[in-house]
Amino acid sequence: MRTGITLACTECKERNYTTEKNKKNNPDRLEVSKFCPRCKKHTVHKESK
Ligand SMILES: [Zn+2]
Repeated sequence: MRTGITLACTECKERNYTTEKNKKNNPDRLEVSKFCPRCKKHTVHKESK
C-alpha cells in the first residue's frame, strides 16, 4: 500500500524530493513546506507523478 511519490516545488516546478506515502492514510495530494534549492527558500511542495 505504500507508494513512492515525487514532491515538486509549486513555484518553479522543480522536483526536489522523493518520498513515499500510504495511500490509504493519505489519499489526497501531499503538500509539504520544504527548502527548494532553485528558489533558494522554503516553498510549498506538492505531490506529483
Ligand atoms: Zn522552487
